[in-house]
Amino acid sequence: MLSLVIPVYNEEVLIQELFSRVKIAMESIGPDFEVIMVDDGSTDATLKNLESCHEQDKRFKIVSLSRNFGHQAAYTAGLNYAKGDFIAMLDGDLQDPPELIGEMYQKACNEGFDIVYGRRIKRHEHFSKKLLTRIFHLVFSRLSRLENMKQVGNFSLMSKRALHSFLSLQEKNRYLPGLRAFVGFKQGYVDYSRPDRMKGEAKMSLYKLVTLGLDAIFSFSSLPVKICLYSGLIGVILIFFALIYILIGKLGGYAPVGWSSIILSVYFIGSVQLVSIGILGEYVYRIYKETQNRPIFIVNKFIE
Ligand code: UDP
Ligand code: MG
Repeated sequence: MLSLVIPVYNEEVLIQELFSRVKIAMESIGPDFEVIMVDDGSTDATLKNLESCHEQDKRFKIVSLSRNFGHQAAYTAGLNYAKGDFIAMLDGDLQDPPELIGEMYQKACNEGFDIVYGRRIKRHEHFSKKLLTRIFHLVFSRLSRLENMKQVGNFSLMSKRALHSFLSLQEKNRYLPGLRAFVGFKQGYVDYSRPDRMKGEAKMSLYKLVTLGLDAIFSFSSLPVKICLYSGLIGVILIFFALIYILIGKLGGYAPVGWSSIILSVYFIGSVQLVSIGILGEYVYRIYKETQNRPIFIVNKFIE
């Protein structure tokens, strides 16, 4: 059996279109499938529309969350309910073509891949968004040292055992493409060109995107802490040279040392310390959040 997980948040205008395209795509692979649609606390008619999809086809199941938890949490919720031998993930705005799932499935079955993900060779989105995601992918793939992280998102398919390992990673700041790469096994990709969303506004606001990016970087790299260590070291070396300079001035009797150099170094050390405290604070905050052990999502109801 094949499972498909789709998170949706205030997507009332495209549920019907999504339903028919997904249904056709899934039926073309085989009759034995389930689609788990996760309503991430929508405030419009999304849940009602999802229920009508369920009425039309009982293979479409709904997980309704108690409030908006964000799309990484919504995916995680749906994946917890998936029972298939292979499990696919698809955005609900039709930016990832459901028709490609068949190709991913064939690749996984025929070539023995545990994970097959979509790689965007072309994106039809706003220039600023493309630039932002490009910079992020570049920085992230450098820092995380994970392979093939450029231009990949959530759109993917994985085997039962890969999913099992994936879900065993219980961290709260979840960047799913990173966790998926972390899981390992034999991973492959299919290339596709990513259109803009079918209808409606993007539900990932700039703020949510930037937060996700920072989550990814902070949870997969220790570079932020190293930056403060290195800048602290550089500061110490500079102060050492400044001291020698001042001492020579004193001994030579021409003491060119005035307030400015002292004030400058005080400011310098002060700012290095501030940056360091800020970054350390971020990590302490994360440790605090992990120890709180809050659930990643809370399910309101499951319609099977
Ligand atoms: N989404 C969600 N919860 C949110 C934000 C988004 O479930 O808080 C869903 C949204 O309905 C869509 C998918 O996640 O199906 C991707 O969202 P969007 O298209 O806004 O993201 P982007 O394409 O900008 O990554
Ligand atoms: Mg989108």
